[in-house]
Amino acid sequence: MHAIDETHSPALVSWLASANQAGADFPLQNLPHGVFRRQASGEAWRGGVAIGDQVLDMAAAHAAGLFTGEAAVAAGHAGAPALNGLMALGPSAWQALRLALSRGLREGATDQARWRACLVPLAEIEMTVPARIGDYTDMYASIHHAGNIGKLFRPDSPLTPNFKWLPIGYHGRVSSIGVSGQSFPRPRGQILPPGAAAPVFSECKRLDYELELGIWIGQGNAQGEPVPLADVERHLFGMCLLNDWSARDIQAWEYQPLGPFLAKSFATTVSPWIVTMAALAPYRGQWIRPEGDPQPMPYLDDPAIRERGAFDITIESWLESATMRAAGQNAARLSHSSFRHSYWTVGQMVAHHTVGGCNLQPGDLIGTGTQSGPGEGEAAALIEQSVGGKQPVSLGNGETRSFLEDGDTVILRAWCERPGFARIGFGDCRGTVLPAR
Ligand code: MN
Repeated sequence: MHAIDETHSPALVSWLASANQAGADFPLQNLPHGVFRRQASGEAWRGGVAIGDQVLDMAAAHAAGLFTGEAAVAAGHAGAPALNGLMALGPSAWQALRLALSRGLREGATDQARWRACLVPLAEIEMTVPARIGDYTDMYASIHHAGNIGKLFRPDSPLTPNFKWLPIGYHGRVSSIGVSGQSFPRPRGQILPPGAAAPVFSECKRLDYELELGIWIGQGNAQGEPVPLADVERHLFGMCLLNDWSARDIQAWEYQPLGPFLAKSFATTVSPWIVTMAALAPYRGQWIRPEGDPQPMPYLDDPAIRERGAFDITIESWLESATMRAAGQNAARLSHSSFRHSYWTVGQMVAHHTVGGCNLQPGDLIGTGTQSGPGEGEAAALIEQSVGGKQPVSLGNGETRSFLEDGDTVILRAWCERPGFARIGFGDCRGTVLPAR
């Protein structure tokens, strides 16, 4: 597991003033990776690292000879149009690059002019999905979400008998994954109206979002060789925000017996920056299985997971309606919670995914499932917040929502903070619902 080292020191200050502003998502302690180009430039996509209000063009920085040794090898891959090569290198190379970036961007570094020449303002760039995603799996790891949803779909037994024994998941769709800024038409499909004997073909009337985190896989594993939990860290590159847009009415009719299909496959939005596992190291904490619950099987249990398996990542969802945009009003917050409440940890999800012999590859994406917390205001999807549509949510400007309307933009946000350490953020994950076509 990543150690706390000099790159995490809260005392670090960058020669780039915008990186030192309180509340900034991308201080020197973060250094997330993404893939970008200048807007409307026709330039080639290339990898970059966010710092303050700038991105360090890694292709340019590598070409300028700013790195040596193992960090130079990693920097070459970090400037590529997709980050799979960087993800495949493993923790030693990732760490060498992080250290070199931290030292080059901090106050007092030599060569500042050569580094500064590789910066591009974030305000001038567009971004794309940061890796060629081979496979995307979405889990169901929050017991609070599973309980809330289960009550609506199966009032007699909200939690399925397997929930406390294994991390539930389904295989999702890669082709419709987009980055923040994505918009998509409201899906159409088969829907069974309440009390009806036969379904109708209709546009979705119960369109929802799901606030999740995404896990970017680092090194892969060979087919037939499961990843032991004690060895999971080299398979974890970093995390992002993920919105698993969901058509609840289509889902309710189609999901048995094989799980979600068209209710989930029309769009998934991720935040473009990958916050590395190294950057997240200070915000990890104990993972505790409640007494009285089944203890995990040996392949899902490890002392390191018990000590530092949980991640205290604050997660929020916001809604900006077309009315708010037209009136210049602020978005309304729908939820506020933390990923530390997850019933299953990131490591357990990966260990379980591979235990039967499935091979993961660098750049694979795993969603954590909707991360609802235990308290008031911590439910991370509208179906929970509106209790299946029966209690519409007030947006504070006279509008209410049971489910999403055309023109609605959902904004996901996440950050980590802990006394004695810097605050680091994920950057926004925004997506907008367009009318059905
Ligand atoms: Mn989901």
